[in-house]
Amino acid sequence: MTDISIQRLRKAYGNLEVIHGIDLAIEPGEFVALVGPSGCGKSTLLRMIAGLEQISGGDLFIGNLRMNDVPPKDRDIAMVFQGYALYPHMTVADNMGFSLRLRKVAKDEKDRRVREAAAMLGLENLLQRYPKELSGGQRQRVAMGRAIVRNPKVFLFDEPLSNLDAKLRVHTRAEIKSLHRRLGTTTVYVTHDQIEAMTMADRIVVMNAGNVEQVGTPLELYDEPSNMFVAGFLGSPA
Ligand code: ADP
Ligand code: MG
Repeated sequence: MTDISIQRLRKAYGNLEVIHGIDLAIEPGEFVALVGPSGCGKSTLLRMIAGLEQISGGDLFIGNLRMNDVPPKDRDIAMVFQGYALYPHMTVADNMGFSLRLRKVAKDEKDRRVREAAAMLGLENLLQRYPKELSGGQRQRVAMGRAIVRNPKVFLFDEPLSNLDAKLRVHTRAEIKSLHRRLGTTTVYVTHDQIEAMTMADRIVVMNAGNVEQVGTPLELYDEPSNMFVAGFLGSPA
């Protein structure tokens, strides 16, 4: 069984179609990277999976449920954004517990899950701080903590490392991978950095101008890029 099944998925803004009928199947536990140049439709595709963008055509299934018209809060998905979007007026603990409160999870259970996630991410001593009192790397971890506490079927990441400096990026990459190994949650990870994709993903989806150019393991793509675009993109510096 697939965890995410995308069938002939299309997206148009007004008359402008930006996703042109994409097919993709993601297996349980897979770490899949969506890569491609800026503007090729990575975020749009991810946001359709999350339910943050209306689908213009085709079908989206999570497990075997058709999700086209299901609101974001009823999808078993947690998304980590580029800018983290933490609530500035809430402590780290409240930021991490907020989505559970929305879903009426009992306080004890909520506190337990927040503590567990904080321990996993090394945030135990920062739970009473506010976002403005944290470094960029710490904020990034709170954003991940917010996703982890939900224990969702699917994690979606949209360029989660782009606000970090080079050293912290390498460190956080490893941290995300080790969380994935530990939790085994199906993950779709958007990046415009092909090296990040190559080092992190089980399979890579190379996108260009609203289409999928190729899907394969990092080795498959290196060994046999299916066309000039894929070869050029993978061979270019980040
Ligand atoms: P990426 O994440 O790969 O950089 P996006 O998914 O953000 O690309 O954008 C894909 C295309 O859709 C781009 O041409 C972008 O200009 C367009 N686009 C994205 N969001 C909107 C919007 N809200 N209204 C109109 N066009 C949009
Ligand atoms: Mg984007």
